Amino acid sequence: MFETNKNAFRKTKILNSIGPATESAEMMEKMIKAGSSAFRFNFSHETVTHLDRLKTLREVSKKLGVYVTAVADIQGPKHRVGVFKDDKAKLEIGQKFTVDLDETPGDSTRVCLPHPEVIEALEVGSRILVDDGKVQLKVTKKGADFAETEVLSGEWIKNKKGFNIPDVRIKSSCLTKKDREDIEIINSADFDYLAFSFVQTAEDCRECRELVRDDIKIIAKMEKPQAMENLVEITKEVDALMVARGDLAVEVGAENVPLCQKEMIRVGRDLAKPVIVATHMMESMIDNPFPTRAEVTDVANAVFEGADCVMTSAETTIGDYPIETVEMMDSVIRKVEASEDYKRNLNAVILEGLEHNTVSDVMAHSAKQISNELSASAIVTATVSGTTAIRIAKNKPEAPILAVSLEPRTLGRLGICAGVRGVVTSEENNSELGMDNFARELAKKEVNAETGDHIVVSMGKKTPEAKSVMEEGNTNIVTVVRV
Ligand code: PEP
Repeated sequence: MFETNKNAFRKTKILNSIGPATESAEMMEKMIKAGSSAFRFNFSHETVTHLDRLKTLREVSKKLGVYVTAVADIQGPKHRVGVFKDDKAKLEIGQKFTVDLDETPGDSTRVCLPHPEVIEALEVGSRILVDDGKVQLKVTKKGADFAETEVLSGEWIKNKKGFNIPDVRIKSSCLTKKDREDIEIINSADFDYLAFSFVQTAEDCRECRELVRDDIKIIAKMEKPQAMENLVEITKEVDALMVARGDLAVEVGAENVPLCQKEMIRVGRDLAKPVIVATHMMESMIDNPFPTRAEVTDVANAVFEGADCVMTSAETTIGDYPIETVEMMDSVIRKVEASEDYKRNLNAVILEGLEHNTVSDVMAHSAKQISNELSASAIVTATVSGTTAIRIAKNKPEAPILAVSLEPRTLGRLGICAGVRGVVTSEENNSELGMDNFARELAKKEVNAETGDHIVVSMGKKTPEAKSVMEEGNTNIVTVVRV
């Protein structure tokens, strides 16, 4: 029970933010070897340096013969208060405090809120939560260019601190001028995903999709109560979700985050969209070689719930122990995945069927049934875009899923998707017989399948219309071959 099998196929993926602590080729190589399958480039902090880091990452992964996933994360409308005469101001609970559009430095009676669209949207009763909620203001009176508030909590309000407005739906787009400029840079580079912040509606997602290059997939960062209200619609519009627990905790209250996380994982799974759990997972490892018991349990619970991917932020951007952090996450995930409780938990989830099942969905479900009943060593699935593999993965089969594609970029999509490993194939295997034979070889190589083992193979029948066994939406064959 206390031995960890490091050779077992690990399903849940690890996404690590890259920063000064991990930007060298040497560190990236160590992280990949420790278990990272995906890397996040946070455009809130830097822009151009990320392109150099991405180049390094691609060189390192090429050298190692693996394909890792690169996620660009754009800042979104991060709101900040203006400045104070003395850099900060003291507040008393119960006092009046005005926010306005006057750029004169503030004091303990007022400060500039340099966001006209926010002032416009505030209403009597709206809360303004400054500095991760340390200062809480509640609007008591509203004018055209100001709002008067009552201080509910907090002692000091400081220069340029970020603020959240959970009760307010901002009418403007969640993409700022900076985001649009960053998207242009991201479109010119070799990223696999773009994560966008402060999504509120499905319309926000459509707007983002329009701006992003076709082969870059999009991730909605879920951090607003309005996004939770529109969870199903948003999930249908995007390729993956991120449970962005940092801002989410400020916006909905920390005590509501665990339930939001569970709901996102359930809906993401139902609609076959990978879900990443982010923020504070191993926070204490920024400056400690070991995590707290609570952090270990947090990572374990995300895996038990069926998250596809767990993420690090400062732990791996500026932390002193980035490699140890990845190693610890890897060990925790392996422990959970080897347990009977894990299988029981995932099988106990009843999916609501939020979408009408297609033939591909039914095939994906039967691939799971057949592979579980035969204790197959692998499911090999032919896929153009990775979608078929993700649809099989949502059923959480016990066997590893090997996603075979002609398209190397498809592999980049799978580094955040639990249970799936991507493999590139060549045109000579693009037939029913070719795929069966390739599946046998692949299972031996990738998951140590032995003579006599069952392998479940899923693909589409070639027809005059469907020229490839990997054609999207055309999966209609599930067969069993033996090694
Ligand atoms: C979060 O708020 O949890 C998050 C992941 O976003 P960011 O780190 O960009 O603030």
